[in-house]
Amino acid sequence: MIKIYNTLTRRKEKLTPRIAGELGIYVCGMTVYDYCHLGHARVLVVFDTIVRYLRATGLKVKYIRNITDIDDKIIQRAAENGEPFNQLTDRFIRAMHEDCLWLGVLPPDDEPRATAHIGQILQMITTLIERDFAYSAANGDVYYRVRQFPQYGRLSGKTIDQLQVGARVERDHSKEDPLDFVLWKGAKPGEPCWESPWGEGRPGWHIECSAMSTHCLGNHFDIHGGGMDLQFPHHENEIAQSESASGEHFVNLWMHNGYVQIDQEKMSKSLGNFFTIREILKTDNDQERMGEVIRYMILGSHYRSPLNFSDSALKSAKSALTRLYLALEKTQRKESVGSLAADIPGQFHQAMSDDFNTPGALAALFELVREVNRAIDDGRRGEAKSAANELKSLGALLGILQQDPGRFLGSEGAAEGAVDGAEIDQLVADRNQARADRDWQKADLIRDDLLSRGILLEDAPDGSTRWRLA
Ligand SMILES: [Zn+2]
Repeated sequence: MIKIYNTLTRRKEKLTPRIAGELGIYVCGMTVYDYCHLGHARVLVVFDTIVRYLRATGLKVKYIRNITDIDDKIIQRAAENGEPFNQLTDRFIRAMHEDCLWLGVLPPDDEPRATAHIGQILQMITTLIERDFAYSAANGDVYYRVRQFPQYGRLSGKTIDQLQVGARVERDHSKEDPLDFVLWKGAKPGEPCWESPWGEGRPGWHIECSAMSTHCLGNHFDIHGGGMDLQFPHHENEIAQSESASGEHFVNLWMHNGYVQIDQEKMSKSLGNFFTIREILKTDNDQERMGEVIRYMILGSHYRSPLNFSDSALKSAKSALTRLYLALEKTQRKESVGSLAADIPGQFHQAMSDDFNTPGALAALFELVREVNRAIDDGRRGEAKSAANELKSLGALLGILQQDPGRFLGSEGAAEGAVDGAEIDQLVADRNQARADRDWQKADLIRDDLLSRGILLEDAPDGSTRWRLA
């Protein structure tokens, strides 16, 4: 049984697909006028992991992630560059797909673009006008009449009257009510535009998601996701548009991932102030490895919690992944497979089925690393091998640990800081003593400490330990 936190009801709910064995999920994707930043990386990785996991439970998942390829920022940026808007958007769509490759994000089943769905958008707006939920204004815009939808505000926990107080009284005389939002924007001279019953113009941002999600998944579907900042007004508006157009319930479960926080003070200057995915990738001489490090760092926080990004968060993600790959590397020989003592896969699945608790799932992977190390120490090579196999197959569900361990571990640059050989020898001796005392916690702490300083330990079958620079 999978439980998922539903933003709409503010509690965890048992996932019950509308159609047994199948699941439709729509996630708001990128507005493509610039390179993807870390906030985008989070939404991409989080929902990729959720979809991977839901598929692993046997569900036939249809995953839709849209592209917003027309909006004010796109028009403005294209005008600044002096290029056609679709040349700009094509370029950044290609860049986003490259970023996805580095992050191990699989392509969605469909990636609809707003400009390819103008027909569906016009149809939905027409229906909304016919049903009295929308009106065309004198300035060429079409607006949604918020007060006509009494449930408005349910997702973000606000009432219409609270919103009314908060709404800035911008004296926009074309709107009947300041709360109303735009469905169709009349074109200004020189702007990209499409024909419509209300004159030339282009779709508002909210209506495109209602039209495309309905087109791909139907009037009523299982899960709608996106970043937390989209709860209001974007998703609130989607609910209003879709439910008033179809007369049906729109979405069963709303999922929102948390913000990315950047610790400016501790950030190294080499990274600059604006963190695009490609800037962070370039901080390592191996972008494939760095892509996995970013992914690991994202999964290290629960998707609904804030994600703290800093140099040290990246470093610890890299150390953690190094430990996981070391366990895989040690067991690469062809060996017969033994049986696993503890039910660690069970712990992994328990964590993931409880609202996709990826930190809990990663903790289970480290239990497997301990199993690998203990089994090697005790000469139980078959069991070490089976623990490593399990590590790799559970890693696949998170989209990690699928590189060749040798290549992940091998291409590292020089270790940071001077290395005091005598001090390391002493720490290795302390760790061997801890292992002899079966004080695994202490042994692991020493290993982690050395790893964070760029020192890899390798335990040989004869009980000796070598160290080398990472
Ligand atoms: Zn959207």
